[in-house]
Amino acid sequence: MSIKEIDKQFIAGTYARFPVEIVSGKGSLVYDDEGKEYIDMTSGIGVTAFGIADEEWKNAAFEQMNKVQHMSNLYYTQPCALLAKALCEKSGMKKVFFGNSGAEANEGAIKAARKYAAEKKGGDCYTIVTLKNSFHGRTLTTLAATGQEHYHELFKPLTDGFCHIDAGDLDGLRALMNTTEIAAVMIECIQGEGGVIALEKDFVRELRELTEQNDILLIVDEVQTGNGRTGKYFSYMNYGIMPDIVTTAKGLAGGLPIGAVLLGEKVKDVFGFGDHGSTFGGNPVCCAAALSVINRIDDTLLESVNEKSRFIREELENADGVESVSGMGFMLGIKTVKPAKDVLKACMENGVLCLTAKNKIRLLPALNIETEQLQKAVSIIKAACKE
Ligand code: PLP
Repeated sequence: MSIKEIDKQFIAGTYARFPVEIVSGKGSLVYDDEGKEYIDMTSGIGVTAFGIADEEWKNAAFEQMNKVQHMSNLYYTQPCALLAKALCEKSGMKKVFFGNSGAEANEGAIKAARKYAAEKKGGDCYTIVTLKNSFHGRTLTTLAATGQEHYHELFKPLTDGFCHIDAGDLDGLRALMNTTEIAAVMIECIQGEGGVIALEKDFVRELRELTEQNDILLIVDEVQTGNGRTGKYFSYMNYGIMPDIVTTAKGLAGGLPIGAVLLGEKVKDVFGFGDHGSTFGGNPVCCAAALSVINRIDDTLLESVNEKSRFIREELENADGVESVSGMGFMLGIKTVKPAKDVLKACMENGVLCLTAKNKIRLLPALNIETEQLQKAVSIIKAACKE
């Protein structure tokens, strides 16, 4: 049996895989089982921040693996403490809880918000408001947070206590505040799965003011947008605001599983002994790899992300068959005249891997993709978009 056949027989059918088996790679190049080369414009959906099998990243993980690969959270380990410090320095947050995924990070943020509100305002204050078209994860609680009904079907009842408003609808939020006690508002500054849609700056700033004035926590989900993806370390930095809680995952450890809840001043001490936990949370190998990633995301790298992002926009914005380009940094959505899935297929046939988000082509290249590879990928994408 081939790998594809074994996979089809033994893996639960949750993923519509492309007919390609990836066996190796280096940087932004990956190879399939027939030796075909692809330029990877997906980075494992925003995970492999420095590409495949990056030397510095591998060394950081291997070095830690040779020391200690796991200890329970009953003991101190260096990578976990140093990574939390580095994340607080980057973000302006004060304390960190580590888990293993984006959904787990959002679960942690929701628990932190509920406990803060329960202690401060009483047990009836638990509602979390999120945006329509958002995506916050696949667990029953983060599905409830996700403002897209089609993900909810057949999995009800979901966790209670979530309301959804349209992006930009502050009046809707104000109206809700008259009838419902709200613990927190959770947003993605750029809705990724929702179609790479950046929220309006005025909306985000006014939302921050309104939540601040009413002691409603603002949670920013940086699972996809974090760790340099949008040309700043975190996407909220493009908006000039400071959230109360930030969640992140995906690119943080460059390809090893990690999730983090970053707790700001108001909520830094909300979790006490036994309030939350995760066996693998703060795993030393994942944290050592993440430290090597975070230490490389400096102003020079971010400037090069922004410069390369401008290049992609300039090339594609007025190209034949392209209607518009959305997003920021290396999180871009391309609205094409042809169906996005047809463009993706043509790109794949010509050696470029892309993603889709709703009806757009989505590009999430590694932060260090080489200029030549990027140029080649963009010209293949451009040709594929052409009518
Ligand atoms: N939040 C956002 C904004 C995401 O894009 C995702 C995944 O795509 C998640 C949460 C869930 O992350 P994970 O798949 O690691 O649980």
